[in-house]
Order: sequence, then structure tokens, then C-alpha cells
Amino acid sequence: MGVYEELGLTPIINASGAVTRLGGAPMPAEVLAAFHEAAGQCVPLERLQAAASRVIAEVTGAEAGLVTAGAAAALTLGAAAILSGNDLRRMELLPHCDGLFPDEFVVAREQRNGYDHAVRAAGAKLVEVGFHEIVANAGVRRVEAWEFEAAFCPRTAGVLYVFSPDSQPPLAEVVAKAHARELPVLVDAAGELPPRANLKSIIATGADLVAFSGGKAIRGPQATGILCGRRDLVGAAALQFLDMDDHFELWDPPTEFIDKSRFAGLPRHGIGRGGKVSKEQIVALLAALRMFAAGAFNQDIESHRRRLRRIIERLVGATAKCTLVDSRYGEGLPLLEVAIDEAALGRTAFDVCRRLRDGSPPCYVGHGQLRAAKLVVNPLHLDDERAEKLAKRLCEELTP
Ligand SMILES: *Cc1c(COP(=O)(O)O)cnc(C)c1O
Repeated sequence: MGVYEELGLTPIINASGAVTRLGGAPMPAEVLAAFHEAAGQCVPLERLQAAASRVIAEVTGAEAGLVTAGAAAALTLGAAAILSGNDLRRMELLPHCDGLFPDEFVVAREQRNGYDHAVRAAGAKLVEVGFHEIVANAGVRRVEAWEFEAAFCPRTAGVLYVFSPDSQPPLAEVVAKAHARELPVLVDAAGELPPRANLKSIIATGADLVAFSGGKAIRGPQATGILCGRRDLVGAAALQFLDMDDHFELWDPPTEFIDKSRFAGLPRHGIGRGGKVSKEQIVALLAALRMFAAGAFNQDIESHRRRLRRIIERLVGATAKCTLVDSRYGEGLPLLEVAIDEAALGRTAFDVCRRLRDGSPPCYVGHGQLRAAKLVVNPLHLDDERAEKLAKRLCEELTP
């Protein structure tokens, strides 16, 4: 009996990709081997994070980096670092800034999303600029850089920017406005890999801190992420995250990671302590990051395409139209869109999605386009056997 069966669970066929609620990305064998080996010995965590910082710096071009408990934790730590700087009193007070020091982060209204809770959790107050005029059909313009500048005031601590291929205004423009007022920019780029080029190009805009997920396309442990950027801010983030139960006299962090000479004492556990990361997770994330950065996963793309074509062949005769779409970037995975003729089938795409989840084996397809009557098959977790089982279930549900 498998570990999940023993707990009364049936493993599913995940055709939704690296989503957190279904367990994230599949870890390659090399990553699992690194995890396993790292678990067998102990090292001081601040030295391990300092080593991770060097690897992350090399891969991203940032000055420094930290392995965090997911991109959301990276956002909390990044916001905390911006709010406190190296001020030990502020670190102690977070998330309560209470008018004692600047706590506002300016953000485009159209970039607000559920993950910005992670930034607010550190104590930041979000101040929105711009409108949703296009969505409201009430105008033609999106948020503009001058609106950030106009919102900056003595209470401003920094800027939050959620990166996507069509986010506006361009990050570089926002960075220029912020830096003119010596304000740092924190970027949520959690899901913006691939393209691999984003590992370097986002930091290259001058952004001060960037958060990536480790458990999405990088294929590291699901509960990992990366915070990379300015050395002083990454150091401040590390201080509010690592286990601080040591004596100042003995505390000996690598200077290029945390410059001890800047501190009059050793802070106590910080606001990020709840998002701790283990040695195994750090080592495994670094193994995955190196593979991702070297393009090691690109060779899977053709076999995924072949599997999706095979599903299309199996669905000939079903009440659905299949389209193979390449995701936005050349090195992204192909996706299969299955457009359902709801009237002919006598069932909605929501019904089909529900029945696939409830069937045997349970199949979870992408649900982002259900209102347009489309199922999306993401091949990331499919092997030949799972693809075959999924094709069979789709056939059963899509044949009237
Ligand atoms: C996935 C995602 C996150 C959260 O990342 P985790 O690594 O799961 O913590 C944050 N922001 C955006 C935009 C995301 O897509």
C-alpha cells in the first residue's frame, strides 16, 4: 500500500500543472537525491543560506538571495526588510508600524491580488494608484508611472509591483520613479518562470527585491521560493527569518551575507520565523534551480507534446474541439485546450470538470477557462500511463 492509500487517500491524475492545492511541481530524481543526501547531515543554517545566496546571485545577477518558504513568504520577508531596514527596534515591532516609521507600499490597483496579503502580513499598508477603467469599460488608459510618483509621500516605504508579461507601466519606469525618491521596489514574479531569461531580466531593471516560486517551473520542493536582490535588504530579511537563538559573541554569519558589524545586538526571532526552510529544502531547491537555469527541463517538451497529441487522437469523435497551444514562451510547456460543445453534450464544462474529479482515477484538469466551456490539460505531471488514463476518462465524459 502506498503512503497516500495508507492515509485513506487516492492519488489523482494532476493535469493542472504545478498548482499548490494539488501538490506543486514534480521534483526531478536529481532534486530528490539532493534532498535525501542533505537530510543526513547538519550544517549551520546561516552558512547554508549564505552559500545559497551565492548560487542565487550567480543565476539571477542579483547581489544576494535567500531560499524562502515559497514566493509568498519571500514577499512577507521582502516587505519586512524594506519596513525595518537594519533597525533592530523596527524588526521587533513588526507587523506594527503604528505611524512610528514609513509603512505604505504604493501598488497599481489593477495589480492587487490575493497574494498581496503576504506583503500586508509584514505590516505594510497598500496604497493603490490607477483605476480599472478598461475592465469597467469607462476609459482607455491603464495605470501610468506618474501616478506612482504622485502617491509618494513621507509615509511611503516602497513600491509593490506584480510582474507579468503585460504588466503596466513597465517595471523599469516604476523603478526609475521610485529610485528618484530613494524608495525600494519589491517585485512579485512568483510564476514568471519560464522564460528562463526572467531569472536575470527582472533584477536587471534595477528592482530592489524579487520573489520567485521554487515549486513551480523550477521544480524544487513545493514549499520553497527565492527572494533575491540588494545585499543589505536580503541580509535584513535573513535576520527576520533565521533562528536567532544564539549569543551575539558567538554569532558568526558570513560577512558578505549578514554584516555583523552593522548591528549592536542580535535580534530575537523575527516576523518571518513562521516560514522557516529546512536544510533539505534549501539544498534541493538549489539543485532544481541549477537544472532549470541550465535548461535541463526543455528536453521534456517534445514528449509532453507527443502525449497531448495522443490525447487528441483519442478524443476524435467526442463532442469537443481540441487545440494544442504553446504557452506564451518558446520554452514553456504545450497545453491542450478542450472546448466542449455544452449543448450537444447536455452538460456544462463545470459538470465535466466535477465528474472528472469525482471519477476513477480522479482527474484534475485546468479550470481557468471553464466559463468559456474549455478544459485545459497541462502535461507537467503526465507520463504515458497517466496520459492514457486521462484520455480514457475524457473520452467517457465527452462522448454523449
Ligand atoms: C504562485 C504565486 C504566488 C505564491 O507563490 P508560492 O511559491 O506558492 O508561495 C504569489 N504570487 C503570484 C503572482 C503567484 O502566481
